[in-house]
Amino acid sequence: LDPTGENLSPEEFDIERALRPVSFDDFTGQARVLENLKIFVQAANLRGEALDHTLFHGPPGLGKTTLAHILANELGVNIKVTSGPVLDKPGDLAGLLTNLEERDVLFIDEIHRLSPIVEEYLYSAMEDYKIDIMIESGPNARTVQINLSPFTLIGATTRSGLLTAPMRARFGIQSRLEYYHTELLSTIVERSAEILKVPITNDAAIEIAGRSRGTPRICNALLRRVRDFAQIKGNGNIDLEISQFGLKALNVDAHGLDEMDNKILTTIIDKFKGGPVGITTLATAVSESAETLEEVYEPFLIQQGFIMRTPRGREVTELAYTHLGKVKGGTQGG
Ligand code: ADP
Repeated sequence: LDPTGENLSPEEFDIERALRPVSFDDFTGQARVLENLKIFVQAANLRGEALDHTLFHGPPGLGKTTLAHILANELGVNIKVTSGPVLDKPGDLAGLLTNLEERDVLFIDEIHRLSPIVEEYLYSAMEDYKIDIMIESGPNARTVQINLSPFTLIGATTRSGLLTAPMRARFGIQSRLEYYHTELLSTIVERSAEILKVPITNDAAIEIAGRSRGTPRICNALLRRVRDFAQIKGNGNIDLEISQFGLKALNVDAHGLDEMDNKILTTIIDKFKGGPVGITTLATAVSESAETLEEVYEPFLIQQGFIMRTPRGREVTELAYTHLGKVKGGTQGG
């Protein structure tokens, strides 16, 4: 189960796209964020202006990309999609920008990973809708200024702390997405089941939702896997029993923690006496990158109260010991 969605097969990618809400009304949760966005879009539409540049931040799989598409849709404009690591030459950015029509949206995922040169270019594009491009080379080299159509840049990042201050200051709208409560996620599960045309009981939807790390991408992924179990081991319908069977087979525990979550907690307890342990040391011990730990795993474990961040590193809480059936300071374990 990959909350980042980076390793989806082409078929899964298509399904994810089919499950993606396309309008404000389709989108469940993040009520406060949505309420404001609706107003800003309405006002921009009324004035016939481009929406202010918008930044979404928060853990992967919570709907940042989805919201970017919804905004373009609600503004009635086109959206061009790229990402920080892909956009490595100023020329590529210039190409994208000069092709935007008035009020169009340019979506840059992982915007904290833009190269400094490209970022520099974006500043004047965002501020004055102008870019300087270099033409010819050698002694004839000179820059010309090109006017752009007023556009909206939508940036998404899992690590707003890594964004430079000048970059952040250029976003008039900044929204933080939060993990979803089980009830909201169960609504999403039911909606997705309807799109996938698979019957599901209410208690099964709640069961899947409760084990999804508060993340829509994960509840959709679990739903698809449970659907497989229902088809092969059951009668095709998803009920509580087949969901529990499937989720157990997938190694998702009752709190929705997956194998890596549990590995992190177990490692801190068994190898580092419950912590504190530095993120780099921990990353090596669980064979995962420090970046992924910080972006994907840690926020949820902290939000759920399993670990704490202290000045000296990460520490597990009492809850982690209880959850894993371990005794503090002891060697007994479960
Ligand atoms: P992010 O860009 O934050 O990583 P995405 O926007 O790609 O997340 O969302 C991942 C998947 O989760 C999407 O395919 C979409 O189907 C689903 N999803 C996200 N947010 C919602 C929501 N509020 N309601 C329904 N489905 C959602």
